[in-house]
Amino acid sequence: MGATDIEREAVIAAIERVSERLTDEKEHLTDLDSAIGDADHGSNMNRGFRAAREKTAEMDDASPDELVKTVGVTLVSEVGGAAGPLYGGSFMTASAELEDGLTAESTVAFAEAFLEKVKDRGGAEVGAKTMVDALTPAVHTYKKSVEQDDLPPVEALTKAVDACERGVDFTTPIRATKGRASYLGWRSVGHQDPGATSTLFILEAIRETAVEYLGDGDLEADSTSPSVPDEEPTADEEA
Ligand code: ADP
Ligand code: MG
Repeated sequence: MGATDIEREAVIAAIERVSERLTDEKEHLTDLDSAIGDADHGSNMNRGFRAAREKTAEMDDASPDELVKTVGVTLVSEVGGAAGPLYGGSFMTASAELEDGLTAESTVAFAEAFLEKVKDRGGAEVGAKTMVDALTPAVHTYKKSVEQDDLPPVEALTKAVDACERGVDFTTPIRATKGRASYLGWRSVGHQDPGATSTLFILEAIRETAVEYLGDGDLEADSTSPSVPDEEPTADEEA
């Protein structure tokens, strides 16, 4: 199997994992959205990713960017509401960054383009109590971890997931100024944002897929120094 085949398989696996996670979290996301929205975020995300999973599963020979673009097109066409077009439009646009395959650099470019598109389309900055609050720290942390700290992708993703989680927590005590929750004004305070939460679930599923394909941080570190032979197990380890 060539590099492209493995990348394609990994993207399909990521879509499956995201879809499964969103199915598992359907009630959870709907509960969050019933507190400050219209109780459809769980079913929206579940329906959208299920459809994306079915479509991409039939795309033999598609490249990673084509698969990701199809996810976006499907979310836009299948999911109403705010989140479908926001997530969908971003998957569509940012997929172009993956045309030359999945690398640390291309995935950073993808993440940045994804965030930019959400902000362009939705007009929300950090602090409006939306998915932007979770995406922004995740994307900035991923970029910094790859570009400044030279961390391998899986470790960078782990840092990004941590940052994303803090972004989700940040949405709870603040007042919504964008989206349906903003209709509640100050009554939105004290509730966690559903879209920020689904962003975290998607990112966690992507990280789990990356671990599956690249191994955890340790394995990744080993692969950067392939000339060093594996050490023989010590007597202790053998015992
Ligand atoms: P709707 O609000 O139309 O019912 P969903 O329930 O599927 O759509 O999604 C709600 C989520 O969408 C919110 O929790 C928020 O994170 C996100 N969202 C809403 N409006 C915006 C916006 N303008 N910019 C970014 N994200 C937004
Ligand atoms: Mg809703």
